[in-house]
Amino acid sequence: MTGEDSPRARVKGRRALVTGGSGGIGTAIVEGLASEGADVAVQWYRNRAEADRMVEVVRKFDQEGIAVQADVLDSKSVIAMRDTLHEEFGKVDTLINCAGINRDSIFHRMTDAQWDEVINVNLSGVFHCCRAFVEEITASGHGRIVNISSLVGEMGNIGQVNYAASKSGMIGFAKALARELAAKRTTVNVVAPGFIDTPMVRKIPDGVKDKILNQIPMGRFGTPHEVAMSVIYLVSPEADYVTGAVLNVNGGMYL
Ligand code: NAD
Repeated sequence: MTGEDSPRARVKGRRALVTGGSGGIGTAIVEGLASEGADVAVQWYRNRAEADRMVEVVRKFDQEGIAVQADVLDSKSVIAMRDTLHEEFGKVDTLINCAGINRDSIFHRMTDAQWDEVINVNLSGVFHCCRAFVEEITASGHGRIVNISSLVGEMGNIGQVNYAASKSGMIGFAKALARELAAKRTTVNVVAPGFIDTPMVRKIPDGVKDKILNQIPMGRFGTPHEVAMSVIYLVSPEADYVTGAVLNVNGGMYL
């Protein structure tokens, strides 16, 4: 079944760029968008093979797909990605900011490098991508921007001062930009996942994982698919009037 023919083609006709589209959550978002009728550009940083695999997945839904390299912490690299997309894919109307890293450390031992890298990728990266694509997104008359933040940006977490600051920053950023772009019929929203079953979470030591599970009222980690479905909703016409919102996908861990 193609994305076009799907009875659930909720984002039909959209052209999306997913940063971090070769990561654990990003791949589910790419697949979700394509399965619901969107053409998708998959940004990759170091894992070209996985981005190429995702392009094949997009094409299986008879949607257009392309893999495009960029380092989001470098604004020049983001502009070069935009130029490549204009030549080889076209303009986008939807931007999903999913690229992100963590460099955890107990606060008094946190280095400048750990702080700078996390803020520069997670927060400045969103700035670079939004600024580079905002003109074409708003020109579409139905633009969508979704930032993938984290519940850690809402409730904090030991050892993650840098990550929490970057993820809270993504929320303030989205709210301010939502106000600026509302008159241009472009929405800017946030999805804040809790602990999702991905390599990032599988790295957590077992004892710590059990303690986390005890704090999740639903008693389980979320799936990348569950995060992707929230993104699809925010991109779909059903969410035309939703902007500046933070959609928690966390099994009740933070309310
Ligand atoms: P992941 O490590 O699998 O994916 C992260 C992606 O970001 C990768 O595709 C990587 O290539 C890309 N990336 C890293 N540095 C980059 C750079 N400098 N330039 C461009 N791209 C870069 O992680 P994930 O678990 O899939 O997480 C995806 C997003 O969701 C992240 O923003 C993360 O903070 C957020 N998140 C994850 C969880 C979770 O439980 N896994 C929970 C809440 C939020």
